[in-house]
Amino acid sequence: MRQVLHHSQDIPKWQKCLKSVFGLKDIFSLEMNQEASRVKIVSPNEEPGGSGRGGATFTGDVFTYVTMEYTDGAAVTNVCFTPGARTHWHSHENGQMLIVLAGRGWIQSQGESVHVIHAGDTVWVPPNESHWHGATKISYMTHKAISLGSTKWGDEVSESEYGKSVG
Ligand code: MN
Repeated sequence: MRQVLHHSQDIPKWQKCLKSVFGLKDIFSLEMNQEASRVKIVSPNEEPGGSGRGGATFTGDVFTYVTMEYTDGAAVTNVCFTPGARTHWHSHENGQMLIVLAGRGWIQSQGESVHVIHAGDTVWVPPNESHWHGATKISYMTHKAISLGSTKWGDEVSESEYGKSVG
């Protein structure tokens, strides 16, 4: 009788012990989950992928590939412009970073002259700055675009505006 009592008194201790072990494990997994939800990692095989040829907001043949869809107001996209292709005039609510991966292209802010951009260049476009970017007439240009906030699209870059571009 005493043994049984002793044994039955021990069971709650073991349950308590197991609970504390599992409780700790729960706390660890919760912390890991919280970390995973703060940092978003998109591996190449999970990228949303190509969105096809650029639509009404581009002139010429432009191929876009979404690396990361809009997350907390930021989107990452690879864009390949064929020779002569460019965006329409547009602006980004909170700015845009362009990292030129390959080729040679042009970028212009409204009222400024055209800048030549090459593979390896990093470009910052300030918030709400009206601008366009694209390939030169004789070269491809691929950039990674990190776009912040919404994008406002305007008129196309006319042949005469684009024709003034040099370099
Ligand atoms: Mn832009």
